[in-house]
Amino acid sequence: MLKVENLNVYYGGIHALKGVDIEVNQGEIVSIIGSNGAGKSTLLNSISGIVKPKEGIITYKGKEISKLPHKIVKQGICQVPEGRHIFANLTVKENLLMGAYIRNDKDKIQKDLENVYNLFPRLKERTSQMAGTLSGGEQQMLAIGRGLMSDPELILLDEPSLGLAPLIIKTIFEIIQQIKNMNKTILLVEQNAYQALAISDKAYVLEQGRIVTKGYAKDLINDASIQEAYLGKK
Ligand code: ATP
Repeated sequence: MLKVENLNVYYGGIHALKGVDIEVNQGEIVSIIGSNGAGKSTLLNSISGIVKPKEGIITYKGKEISKLPHKIVKQGICQVPEGRHIFANLTVKENLLMGAYIRNDKDKIQKDLENVYNLFPRLKERTSQMAGTLSGGEQQMLAIGRGLMSDPELILLDEPSLGLAPLIIKTIFEIIQQIKNMNKTILLVEQNAYQALAISDKAYVLEQGRIVTKGYAKDLINDASIQEAYLGKK
């Protein structure tokens, strides 16, 4: 479904991604794990067109998308950015409807809104609340819900657990699994390696701009070097 080949990204003199190759198949959760500054956000931002790669090819459903970044949402891809970026002065419902701005299928929008409320009952309870007054976890839920409102096939999720308490992190990861069951494909970027691997099909480990390990998540979670470097075990 999504293929990234030989991606090279520079920020001035910094070579942030060095020949990155990844592949995501339909219906999978694929995670990119790596520590601070490894290049995870840069990879997602390159796919969504926010960052312009110097070299490399990104294809989505057989079509090269590196050349048409601004049309990414119309292709069925949405990005839920790190740090949420919700509209603080709009209500929960208004934020969710903003996610559907490119659509005009009113009935299906209404149905998707109900689906988001089913997935996040907390958002339903707070439908008229100003988004800026939500807790961090609720804001993350809102950001994911808003992404879903574009009816994407592929969701790029950047560090959904960042800065959240353990209990809410657990909920967020459970919900990501439920979203997969809604026939969506997910590319997940996470520092929280254990939780990410636990729900993923495949994973890539990014270190200083390079993919150093890849494999099935169930194998990586048992790999001694991964455990030591990323899962806090010895
Ligand atoms: P984190 O988990 O801390 O967000 P990350 O793995 O997502 O890290 P990136 O944000 O992709 O890493 O950053 C990769 C490298 O590129 C870092 O060295 C970072 O300082 C650098 N970088 C990122 N964005 C820019 C920018 N706009 N200008 C200059 N350098 C940048």
